[in-house]
Amino acid sequence: MYLYGTQSVNDEGHLTIGGVDTVSLANTYGTPLMVYDIALFRERAQAFKQTFEQLEIEAEVAYASKAFSSIAIYEVAKEEGLSLDVVSGGELYTAIQADFPREKIHFHGNNKSMEELVYAFDEEIGCIVIDNFTEIDMIHKLATDRQQKMNVLLRVTPGVEASTHAYITTGQEDSKFGFDLKNGQADEAFKRLLHHEYIDVLGMHCHIGSQIFETIGFELAAKALFKKMLEWRQRFEVICPVLNLGGGFGIRYTEEDQPLAPAQYVKEMAEVALEIALQNDYPMPAIWIEPGRSLVGDAGTTLYKVGSMKEVPNTRTYIAVDGGMSDNIRPALYDAKYTAVTANKMHEAHDEKVTLAGKCCESGDKLIEEALLASPKQDDLIAMFCTGAYSYSMASNYNRLPRPAVVFVENHQHELAIRRETYEDIVRLDVSLQRTKRGETV
Ligand SMILES: *Cc1c(COP(=O)(O)O)cnc(C)c1O
Repeated sequence: MYLYGTQSVNDEGHLTIGGVDTVSLANTYGTPLMVYDIALFRERAQAFKQTFEQLEIEAEVAYASKAFSSIAIYEVAKEEGLSLDVVSGGELYTAIQADFPREKIHFHGNNKSMEELVYAFDEEIGCIVIDNFTEIDMIHKLATDRQQKMNVLLRVTPGVEASTHAYITTGQEDSKFGFDLKNGQADEAFKRLLHHEYIDVLGMHCHIGSQIFETIGFELAAKALFKKMLEWRQRFEVICPVLNLGGGFGIRYTEEDQPLAPAQYVKEMAEVALEIALQNDYPMPAIWIEPGRSLVGDAGTTLYKVGSMKEVPNTRTYIAVDGGMSDNIRPALYDAKYTAVTANKMHEAHDEKVTLAGKCCESGDKLIEEALLASPKQDDLIAMFCTGAYSYSMASNYNRLPRPAVVFVENHQHELAIRRETYEDIVRLDVSLQRTKRGETV
């Protein structure tokens, strides 16, 4: 059995997180419940930051907050001195509610609306990562009309695609994101922004994939972007002060995943950049990175209560819990793999192979195809590990299930971060037909 971060087992055989008994958390807050190990989040944030400090490289570590966006996690990110990536007006609004330092907010996205860009200008955020020519025109106009300074990065596709267990280099990128580095688009974008009075092009950004386990993809990307920066110095006599290499650092969902320590990825990419800078007498750019999953993924655990059971003789036993694809769509969406334990029976052997099913009306609503649990019975508590990234942020009200509560634990303390939805919340946007209110019939 593999435990994450501050997870442990107490004398009663209960799983604890941050020194807090998960059984008592379930009793206090109800289930399903998402529990975040805030000490693990802080540890990861500091490991990334210290890696750059030790190398004496200027850096910004931005939490890619689409992985889990809430006021409370933004407040913790602020405490840790992180920057913040947002990808929509809604995430920006959440950051403003958390009073996140505006200059540390970076705005991403392949289709930012004019309203969203105006919002970003109004809030004077730190940087907009420009994705395409349409956006260049909009930002051009906004900065000119408002006579307002804005820092930008150009998102490029470097022709390096990294996946979990392999990487490939492609000549031409087929991606909806960014300017192609090889076919002249990135040069054209750079030229259009170069001599603008109010727009400051800090450099380039790329994000090569997710759940990556090797450093080679990042090294290739760093080389590709830096080569372009050397070319631009030659052609335009411009030095780019920032090199943003994105996120995607892998974590361990199951024993098949063998990630490096998260900070190891950034150490190697930074060293590659440093070497190129030295060789070419180029002022070392600040390295920006954007971890999402590796900050919140294994820090999150979902607690479910066991309900019904169904045995299909000689085939499998279904154990159904009180949540499912509505609070974690990743297994149904990408066949994502997880592990779980019977959190109130941690001292018992976890040797019963069952299928952990959700309660949604979809046959595909299975959370874990083959889970090894300790004789799960009705009302037992299941802890599903590593659910902190892209679960709550992708949660829905499918079947009109209320979304779970989220609680932060740290140093034997627990605190509510997102309250559980109520049935009133479920219908708060619904409008009853006028004629029904008037008592009319058709
Ligand atoms: C999603 C995303 C990230 C974070 O990816 P993780 O796999 O969660 O680390 C970083 N940068 C950009 C631009 C992204 O779109």
